[in-house]
Amino acid sequence: MRAAVLHEIGQEKLEVLDDVEAVGFGPGKVRVRVRATGLCHSDLSAMSGVLPQPAPFVPGHEGAGEILEVGEGVRHLKAGDRVVICWLPACGTCPACRRGQTELCLAGFMNAGTPNFQRSGGDVFGFAGTGTFAEEVVVDAGCAVPIPDDVPYDIAALIGCGVTTGLGAALNTADVEAGSSVAVIGCGGVGISAVQGARLKGAAEIVAVDPVASRRESALRFGATKAISPDELADAKQQVTGGEGFDYVFEVVGRSATARTAYENTRRGGTLVVVGAGAMDDFLQLNMFELFFDEKRILPSMYGGGDVLRSYERTIALWRAGRVDLAGLITHRVQLAEINEALDQMRTGTALRTCIEI
Ligand SMILES: [Zn+2]
Ligand SMILES: [Zn+2]
Repeated sequence: MRAAVLHEIGQEKLEVLDDVEAVGFGPGKVRVRVRATGLCHSDLSAMSGVLPQPAPFVPGHEGAGEILEVGEGVRHLKAGDRVVICWLPACGTCPACRRGQTELCLAGFMNAGTPNFQRSGGDVFGFAGTGTFAEEVVVDAGCAVPIPDDVPYDIAALIGCGVTTGLGAALNTADVEAGSSVAVIGCGGVGISAVQGARLKGAAEIVAVDPVASRRESALRFGATKAISPDELADAKQQVTGGEGFDYVFEVVGRSATARTAYENTRRGGTLVVVGAGAMDDFLQLNMFELFFDEKRILPSMYGGGDVLRSYERTIALWRAGRVDLAGLITHRVQLAEINEALDQMRTGTALRTCIEI
């Protein structure tokens, strides 16, 4: 079957090969025919080495498709079921799962060192244990979450990562208070989802911050009240908050420099929500005086910061009711063969979300 493979960390281009086989099928596993997959910024971060990932590997972790076959002991799924791929499956029994914080379950990561694919040249890994830039994946049954018939594959794919992450940051982690002021730094698919979440919660002011003009325009369509480039942030803080700082600032870039900017633009007693996925050697500096004296709450948000399956259901309900726009997030559509063009669009920042039809 076909899959897009990165041979070595640091390479910029993927090679679409047709001699790849999904491996590991057996008890507790399912085979999924991937139909649509989104391109998430984390895929680029894994390719460049910012996020840890063994190579060679098939990127992609935001996908949806249909079940081809279920392994022994899998009861809740059958061939033909439509599913979204969840890259962070909940085991249901660990302390984090029992607390309802399934986004912190580490069970799925236990398989991270196991190859998901094979070709004549040897083992190939799947990003985050999935690897959805492929026609077929074999995953734990817990990674395949059934979706209702009215949810198209391209929409379902987005729910698998970006939308869940961004909406959840506003709805679960920040629990934005109605009437508050919000700034979102970084307005790709995840940032725009945070904008939509803040709007749903009734934020009075939502300032979208991004260096790319097309993203700023998009942010306004999705509910931002103001969209500015990073160098205009000081003025916006003055105008919108009288210089005090925003009640909530979402950092959706994953760099210490933007996190520091976000911290400085959060009001005393306000909330900085860290959504971006950053590197292990990138350190955020805070001095002990400001940390204590300004009483800013720093809330990291991993995969939406709440029960993952509950977040999926909530997103589907909001989408069905027309309260969040998911189709509008898909600004580009490509076939697997055009994956490198899609990567370039992501790098230039012109895409919110690219849907790869497989
Ligand atoms: Zn667990
Ligand atoms: Zn992602």
